[in-house]
Amino acid sequence: MPTYKVAIVGAGPAGYFAAQAINNISDIDRSFAIDMFERLPTPWGLVRSGVAPDHPKIKTVSKVFEKIATGENFRLFANVEIGKDLTVEQLQDRYDAVIIATGSSLGKKLGIPGEDLRGSLSAANFVPWYNAHPDFSDVDVPLDSQVAVVIGGGNVAMDVARILALEPSELDPTDTADHAIDAFRKSSIRKVYIAIRRGPEYAAFTSPELRDLPKLEHTNVVVGEDEISAAIARVGETAEKDVKSNLDAMLFIAQNQKTEHERTIEFLFSHTPKQIQGNGKVEGVVFSTSATEVTIKCGLVVTAIGYNALDIPGVPFENGKVVNIDGRVKGNMYVVGWAKRGPSGVIGTNKSDASAVIELLRQDLNEPKNKSDVTELLQGKTVVTQKDWEAINAAEIAAGEPLSKPRRKGITWDQLMAHAEIYRF
Ligand SMILES: Cc1cc2nc3c(=O)[nH]c(=O)nc-3n(C[C@H](O)[C@H](O)[C@H](O)COP(=O)(O)OP(=O)(O)OC[C@H]3O[C@@H](n4cnc5c(N)ncnc54)[C@H](O)[C@@H]3O)c2cc1C
Repeated sequence: MPTYKVAIVGAGPAGYFAAQAINNISDIDRSFAIDMFERLPTPWGLVRSGVAPDHPKIKTVSKVFEKIATGENFRLFANVEIGKDLTVEQLQDRYDAVIIATGSSLGKKLGIPGEDLRGSLSAANFVPWYNAHPDFSDVDVPLDSQVAVVIGGGNVAMDVARILALEPSELDPTDTADHAIDAFRKSSIRKVYIAIRRGPEYAAFTSPELRDLPKLEHTNVVVGEDEISAAIARVGETAEKDVKSNLDAMLFIAQNQKTEHERTIEFLFSHTPKQIQGNGKVEGVVFSTSATEVTIKCGLVVTAIGYNALDIPGVPFENGKVVNIDGRVKGNMYVVGWAKRGPSGVIGTNKSDASAVIELLRQDLNEPKNKSDVTELLQGKTVVTQKDWEAINAAEIAAGEPLSKPRRKGITWDQLMAHAEIYRF
């Protein structure tokens, strides 16, 4: 029975779902050996470094990933960056198929004056800072003003606003980075605006996330009822199900507003940012609205307006995504997940997407290549294997236990690698 060798680049949801789909096309006629490469010492992609720490249930999908990873046909090569430690061409040469699953991690910019002032940051830097991504532990996040503005109309904007407006003790039982919990404890921020360019009917939030907002125990959530009612009237009966559900969720928030808490999130629709003002640091944001121009005084601005994929030498990119037709890139290269589609869809979206791409891969298979093993190219490189990752994972969980946290994350590359080495012997 022929065994095909497949390399998956990126250990996020799309990479694991691709591995799962490959296992599903294995049968009596063919089997597959899967090698997954990940630049960080830790796998799980945005499930570890993106998903909000106060939403731990969503992270339980990692159990599915770990089940795939303990399969006999699976090897993890973490701490190996493709494009740096190995080239894509080397993988294409040695493997029957190479699947790019590297996501999109570069925050899009507004392109307005003042965006580079201190206190203006992208969610692409702020989120991995509070989630202990080892490349972002030094991000400068000034929390010394009363007001913060989050720009964007999707779930990432909502996560950012919520994290900024939570009572900090709510983060104690979570896996939020230690440095971020300390900073939030000292934070002066009490009011967080979410500024959205268009009307409520166009917002890209998903309704389960909106429905969670009124459950916040220590934060008021404010939405203009007239604005939502007007949007409901505009879309009428013909509105798509998702839009209707979102508007219903927003109307519920508007009609059940609380005012007793010290901390508030307020939605501002039809606000287009024109300029970030400040002298050396952020002091306010100027917006144009349907009627007039308004300035909101604030000391922190976080933009959450989408992501672009980071280039990898040897992979064609255009418009922030890998150039592809239905997931086929060129030769034996394929792409899945956010690197393929751009930053849209929830974790589960990557599963059906990966299955469809793997079906094309199955149709394209020829005779297996039978080339020598990739490990000969990695001599002298410290690779974090699945066993090493399990050691890091166990160490983090053990460190969290006395604090009633699901885990206490390593913050730096050195800390993470040290966990791996302690357990190696
Ligand atoms: C802030 C935020 C919050 C989110 N919250 C939710 C939520 O609550 N619920 C939900 O369903 N969805 C959520 N999502 C969406 C979800 O995270 C994505 O759908 C999913 O992670 C995309 O998977 P991916 O594998 O394509 O990319 P990623 O998860 O980004 O994984 C890509 C992986 O590739 C690695 N990599 C990159 N370059 C290289 C390279 N050159 N060599 C080797 N490895 C490389 C990266 O380190 C990373 O581990 C959220 C997204 C964000 C940004």
